Amino acid sequence: MVFEGLFYPGKDEQTKENFGRKESSDVELIFLWFLFGIISAVVASSKGRSGCGWMLLGFFLGPLGLILALVMPKNEEAMEKKALKSGKMKRCPYCAELIRAEAVKCRFCGADVGGGKNDSASETAT
Ligand SMILES: [Zn+2]
Repeated sequence: MVFEGLFYPGKDEQTKENFGRKESSDVELIFLWFLFGIISAVVASSKGRSGCGWMLLGFFLGPLGLILALVMPKNEEAMEKKALKSGKMKRCPYCAELIRAEAVKCRFCGADVGGGKNDSASETAT
């Protein structure tokens, strides 16, 4: 087509070696989709969501999955649980807010919570 040649200069050269190139561009596309899956998973898990589930979603939806992961609200409860489990955070016994495990004073209510690192995660059920 003459018009295509006008709008996309160099297209004729591409079509000549199309057979060789098609395969590699498919691989690139799969790689790109794979990347979207991974980024979606990272974003989702940083928000306390299921990394595996969002990776699959990213694979299927590509950029859309990533956008969904980005606009999705944080799962505060899951994030708190994760922080408690990892031992980075503890729950203030007075106001029940999450504070750093090293904290001596609660940053929310100012209560003295002690600097004990290890006695935090177990006593914070519910
Ligand atoms: Zn507090």
